[in-house]
Amino acid sequence: MKLLMMGPPGAGKGTQAKKIVGDYHLSNISTGEMFRDSYRKKESLGLLAMEFIRDGHLVSDEITIEIVRRRLFESNKEKNFLLDGFPRTIFQAEALADMLDVMQSSLDAVIQIVVSDDVILTRMVGRRSCSICGATYHLDFKPPKVENVCDSCGGVLYQREDDKRESVKNRLDIYKIKTQPLIEYYKSRGLLYEVDGEKSFEGVYQEIKAVLEGLA
Ligand code: ADP
Ligand code: AMP
Repeated sequence: MKLLMMGPPGAGKGTQAKKIVGDYHLSNISTGEMFRDSYRKKESLGLLAMEFIRDGHLVSDEITIEIVRRRLFESNKEKNFLLDGFPRTIFQAEALADMLDVMQSSLDAVIQIVVSDDVILTRMVGRRSCSICGATYHLDFKPPKVENVCDSCGGVLYQREDDKRESVKNRLDIYKIKTQPLIEYYKSRGLLYEVDGEKSFEGVYQEIKAVLEGLA
């Protein structure tokens, strides 16, 4: 199965993606996570990407497409995957379509998590991430067992630079201009499935699961 998880920043894509890839045995390809991981390792790619990420801008199409291309072709074993956070522009979507053509493959579904701006803001500003494994928490909706400590690996939790209020507005504006047109792009190709992202963690998951069961 080849899936795309779409929705505004803070909609809950990463949270749902982690559960889906576990249950459906898919590779989780999150471009945001790849950039942050590279930054943690102090690689030049991560250091360069963070210059854009920090202020809420998109990393260039060229760089982003290249890291996805490498990931998809490198091992040639990414037969079942879930893309989270890619594509974010029409140009990236066209590049993905070309890559899938070369792989003689195609997407099965694009899941769009629908949430209002108010909910997005609350979710992003309250998000805390693990500095070691990248797991995400929320101060109110998913607090860790011990304050500021990751339940999974014991890492210290931090607030992403781009989750601070100043960047959040930028990210939402950019989402509306550059990424939202993808909804129509995938709808016109008969691939788009919308789910109500304002439900509970489990409620959203059940909606996604119903879509995936319907594909089989
Ligand atoms: P995205 O990957 O779309 O940017 P995340 O999955 O990281 O979003 O979720 C953003 C924040 O919202 C996180 O702090 C997460 O714990 C919280 N969150 C995600 N889904 C829900 C939900 N259904 N209800 C309440 N909070 C949620
Ligand atoms: P995310 O973890 O998906 O919220 O992504 C965090 C940040 O990484 C985004 O705000 C962008 O700056 C950058 N990023 C992630 N994916 C892409 C992409 N497909 N295109 C451009 N920039 C991206």
